[in-house]
Amino acid sequence: MTAAKTEIARLLARPLEHLVTAADALRAARHGDGVWIRGLLEFTNRCRCNCLYCGLRSGNDRIARYSLTEEEILRTVKAAFLRGVRTFVLQGGEDPDWTTERLCRLVEGIKGTVSAEAAVTLSCGIRSRREYRSLAESGADRYLLRFETADPVLHERLREGIPLARRLEALSDLRETGYEVGSGFMVGLPGETEDLRAANLKLCADLDLDMVGIGPFIANPDTPLGDLSSGTLEETVRMTAACRILLPDANIPATTAAGSLAAGGREAMLAAGANVLMPNVTPLAYRKRYLLYPGKDTIRRDGIQELETIAGRLQEMGRRIDLGRGDSPAFRRRLITQNEFRDGQN
Ligand code: SAM
Ligand code: SF4
Repeated sequence: MTAAKTEIARLLARPLEHLVTAADALRAARHGDGVWIRGLLEFTNRCRCNCLYCGLRSGNDRIARYSLTEEEILRTVKAAFLRGVRTFVLQGGEDPDWTTERLCRLVEGIKGTVSAEAAVTLSCGIRSRREYRSLAESGADRYLLRFETADPVLHERLREGIPLARRLEALSDLRETGYEVGSGFMVGLPGETEDLRAANLKLCADLDLDMVGIGPFIANPDTPLGDLSSGTLEETVRMTAACRILLPDANIPATTAAGSLAAGGREAMLAAGANVLMPNVTPLAYRKRYLLYPGKDTIRRDGIQELETIAGRLQEMGRRIDLGRGDSPAFRRRLITQNEFRDGQN
């Protein structure tokens, strides 16, 4: 049984230092000092959706659209693999040119080009249950789909008519298909209340997520929300720490948005329970066009060359890079329970 919303609200009301200390101790006990590295590849910035907060929204004609070719993606993945990266996150808008058949060929190509042992995470929006199944059969291991906000009215408004229930249905399809499932939310979206902050965390716990992505909302002037205030680092850190306490076995990345909002943002998340970093391996020529929000931290730096800098910074924090696959302990636990249940039935 997951925590009640009132308990979560009480947790959130605790002094920030207490939360951070408790979360960091839990992270150390359950995950150790290693920080999993994922190579983030932003393969298309075309999107048929029109989410009010996002620079990739279809209504934004101020960005130059691109989509990487299969060859470019495979070349990029191979280069990162040779530098030791074993997990790749393919993220993009809901681009109709990337049909499921094409994505399946890509996933098979990645596994064939580098190694079947490499983990492929997809983050390319809502698809049908059948499509999720085909992608899993082609070798996709994990899927990231943030619910963004647990408030159904706000969700529908911010995502231009797409109901929260549809997002949750997709998350349920992903779980049933056998993916390691990630979701999460933005911090500081317009209309966020204390009650909603607790509801966001409760939804993560109710979904028993394997991975949780939490990042501040950053106002983008090229969107209808451009004049609003962004989320704060302090609130993002508070939500990260509370999330670690509620979901001790989940993998939690220190997100690019936190690093873009404030210098040291990702380090602050790592100190508050996060245990994953996602250096950007997208070819530099495309990087500046994947502008979800202004000031994106990874536009100039090559994620792979950055590994050495990251290693140095982690060492100062008493942490270290871990280049393994880094399956979520929450996911492994679920697999064991499912297998035991199946054995008990036979
Ligand atoms: N299209 C897919 C989707 O929406 O799930 C994946 C790509 S989308 C750009 C990845 C994430 O970017 C979203 O889940 C959202 O939380 C985040 N994002 C979009 N606009 C943002 C903004 N202005 N500030 C912070 N995060 C943002
Ligand atoms: Fe498209 Fe995702 Fe941006 Fe929404 S958040 S506009 S679905 S890329």
